Formats: sequence, C-alpha cells, structure tokens
Amino acid sequence: MPAIRIGIYIETTREGIKPSVLSLFRPGTMVKSDIIAFVTDGHAISHRDLLESHGADQIIEIGKEKGPIPWHPEDHAQALSLAMDHYEVDILLGLTTPMGRELLPRIAALRSIPVLMDCLKVDLHSGVAEKPQYSGKTIAAFKINNNQAVYGIRPNAIEPLLNPKKTTIESFTPKIPVSTIRLKEIHSSDNQEVPISEASVIVSGGRGMKNGVNFEMLKTCAGLLNGAVGASRAAVDAGWVPYALQVGQTGSTVSPRLYIACGISGSIQHFAGMKTSTTIVAINQDPEAPMVKESDYAIIDDLFEIVPEMIDQLKRLAK
Ligand code: FAD
Repeated sequence: MPAIRIGIYIETTREGIKPSVLSLFRPGTMVKSDIIAFVTDGHAISHRDLLESHGADQIIEIGKEKGPIPWHPEDHAQALSLAMDHYEVDILLGLTTPMGRELLPRIAALRSIPVLMDCLKVDLHSGVAEKPQYSGKTIAAFKINNNQAVYGIRPNAIEPLLNPKKTTIESFTPKIPVSTIRLKEIHSSDNQEVPISEASVIVSGGRGMKNGVNFEMLKTCAGLLNGAVGASRAAVDAGWVPYALQVGQTGSTVSPRLYIACGISGSIQHFAGMKTSTTIVAINQDPEAPMVKESDYAIIDDLFEIVPEMIDQLKRLAK
C-alpha cells in the first residue's frame, strides 16, 4: 500500500507555532505516511526543529516572491490548494480554530472533497473520524469514503507525540488568482494572550462571580497557570465580561486539559462547550450543582475563599 500523503496546515501566532498544531502529526503516525508541513508565515527555518521532532518529512514554505502571503482566507485557501496539487497531498489536517474554520472548508470546496470539522479523533487507515454532535451529548463516528479529505481537529483534543524525522525545507510560490474579497482590518475580540479556543487551561466564571470586577482574580489565576479566562452566558449577559469569553452552545467550544469552573452551575448549554475537557474542577457552594456532579474534582465552598487561596499557592510555587 503506497504511503498516504498528509499535509498539515501550520497555524502560527507572533510567538511561533500554536502548541495544539503539534497534535495534528499524531494521526499520521498510525499509518504509512509522508507528512508535509505547510508553513505560511515566512519562518520555516525557525519552526524546523519543532516540526522535525514531531514527524514532518518535508516543510514547504508557501509564500509570494517577496515574503509570506498576508492572512486572507481566500488567498490562503487558493495557495494551500495549489500546494496540495503540487505536492500530491491526499489528506489535509488543520485546527478547528477561528482561522481553521475560515480556511479548511474553503480548501475543501475549491477541491470538491469532503471536509469534517471539530474532530476529536481521526483514523486515517479506516477513514473514520469522531466528532461531538447534538451539543456534545453524543460522539458520532463519520466514515469518509474518499481518498482525499480535509479534517479540522479540535485544539487540545489529541495529545502530541514526539516522532523525530529528518526534514527538508522547500519554497513554493503559487500563482494565486486575484481575490474577490479585500481584507481591510483585523480586530481581535479576545484580547487574552492565550486565546480561549486553544488554551490548555481555562479558569471560567459564572453568575457566582457576582460582578465583573471579581473576574480580575480569575485573570490572575489563569495568568499563573498560563491559561485563559472563560465565562458562562449568565456572566456575559450581565455585561461582566465580553462575549468572546463565553463557553457553551452559543459561545466557544473548548477542550482544555484543565477546566476550572468557578460559580457555574453546569447547564446543558454550558456543558456543550466544555464537556470534552480532560479534567474538570468545580468550585461551587452547591453540592447538588450539575457541574459538581460531572466534575473530576469538586471543591464545595465559597469561591471567594478558594480562588484567592489558589492564587497564593500558585504564586508560592512560581517562586
Ligand atoms: P447559574 O446557573 O445561576 O449558577 C451559578 C452557580 O454559582 C450556582 O451553582 C451557585 O451555587 C454558584 N455560586 C454562587 N455563589 C457562589 C460562591 N460564592 N462560591 C461558589 N459558588 C457559588 N450558557 C452558557 O454558559 N453558555 C452558552 O453558550 C449558553 N447558551 C445558551 C443557549 C440557549 C438557547 C439557552 C436557552 C441558554 C443558554 N445558556 C448558555 C444559558 C444556560 O441555560 C444557563 O442559564 C447558564 O449557563 C447559567 O450560568 P451560570 O452557571 O453562571 O449561572
């Protein structure tokens, strides 16, 4: 059986490769594959060590003659689709982040191939991928009967694995047709250093926080854990925090390694957005709250006692 040619879209920030991108290499380790990392930020050389250690056979720097292609969903989709043609890539893997949601379905549409977003698991041997449905109440297994496909993986859903290889770097300068959309400005609505959809730790607050000022202590706590702050809809509707922080059915879907719910009761709509977190900790005065019952660890107490104590302990550990 010939090796499957897998392309991985390397999403980056100003700080470098997004950590959850490294999990995208994992499905390729289960099959005989050639893995091609598509880099579009112009920093292929500085990303080399990380990509090599996780299993990239080849790094392709996609750009214009004079540097990287500025972020634009249509241009990037065209460029990646042309790169998939050029390097004969069968399967493209990316993250289900705001950027991935813009980009991956566009690539699938350009190539008329199936796309499956928000996957928790992908088996490239059988073509079966698992993803949550009905607001996370069930996990569905989808089988793609096509040699070519695009998969969007939920950030943090898969644990990265070291798989060192020898990697080569090559440049690719596609001829992109002129786009019909002009990008004028980019406004970031979530001003956190770690975006909520990709954070591996989230400290979230609900109605139990009582006001917006009290969210400052969650920010401090999240900062010490290198994580992000989240919120329930009750806290967002009360105007305490911006909508960008809302977790749930009508907010962001997150899958951190650690989710700390402070003063959140655990409605089905909230669970829809965070149920796949690896470890859930509830801080709640009510032992009957669904969040307490569904959590891995629960602290039945006043959050205004517990969170400051947690901050003190974390500061002590950080010294
Ligand atoms: P509450 O349910 O009021 O819970 C507050 C909790 O804080 C209680 O458990 C209480 O015991 C605890 N508490 C209070 N004081 C303290 C203290 N000092 N120390 C410790 N614990 C304390 N909700 C979302 O979150 N996300 C969504 O995306 C979402 N989408 C929705 C979509 C639809 C169509 C609908 C109808 C609803 C949606 N909701 C969503 C709203 C959802 O139904 C709940 O109303 C909401 O999640 C409740 O938020 P909460 O848990 O913060 O508040």
